[in-house]
Amino acid sequence: MKRTVRYKRVLLKLSGEGFGDDGGRGLEMERFIPLAKEIQKLSRSGVELAIVVGGGNILRGAKFSDTGKSRVQADQAGMVATAVNALLLQDTLERFNVNTHVVSAIEIKNITEPFVLRNCLQYLKEKKVIVFAGGTGHPYFTTDTAAALRAIEIGAEVMLKATQVDGIYTDDPVKNPSAKLYKKLSYLDVLSKRLRVMDLTAISLSMENKLPIIVFNINKYENIGRAISGKPVGTYVGE
Ligand code: UDP
Repeated sequence: MKRTVRYKRVLLKLSGEGFGDDGGRGLEMERFIPLAKEIQKLSRSGVELAIVVGGGNILRGAKFSDTGKSRVQADQAGMVATAVNALLLQDTLERFNVNTHVVSAIEIKNITEPFVLRNCLQYLKEKKVIVFAGGTGHPYFTTDTAAALRAIEIGAEVMLKATQVDGIYTDDPVKNPSAKLYKKLSYLDVLSKRLRVMDLTAISLSMENKLPIIVFNINKYENIGRAISGKPVGTYVGE
């Protein structure tokens, strides 16, 4: 049966915590496998897929610099951490025969490719998966902002932002069990209600460029396909 794909070009944002242990720390190799299987399925169905990976399972610059380290250097280490996740994801994807390019915003010449938009657009047309590493390449940013930026640059129709809960809630659902899930929000709602699902830069960049965002639970892997085919999943953020 042919699946109905609503979005043809998609940017998937995977936070580092999804590659870590139950507390979201470190690297648990088996967590890459179900993700890779789902990505393989989507790629074979013809979706043009680019992924931005975070590095929070290894290092978050802002937190690290609280210990007296330089923020710039801590952020640089954070960007390197995203490349570690990207390479491990590429390796897993290629074991599932998904042709994958790791494109990094920081130069890691012998291992990754630099960001050249024309090349990326060609890879997408050829149904190769791109894994973007290194965030924006600059300190004081996050990989959520990198995800919005890359999505806009490659002309993705939607950003799928993976989280550990079902979407955006009225309150932290882990601490407050009566918190309610929003089905739909405007960018301004997210900003004015200070819903901390993404940083403000990422939200405002998405708003200015009318990039819709779907926030969903990554632990339910089939959610990625559901979201791409336009089925209701998590929280939709748009105009
Ligand atoms: N980072 C950065 N610039 C960027 C993206 C990331 O300096 O454009 C650094 C920053 O220190 C950040 C770390 O890389 O804390 C890991 O990224 P992020 O926290 O966004 O990862 P996630 O929470 O998505 O796993």
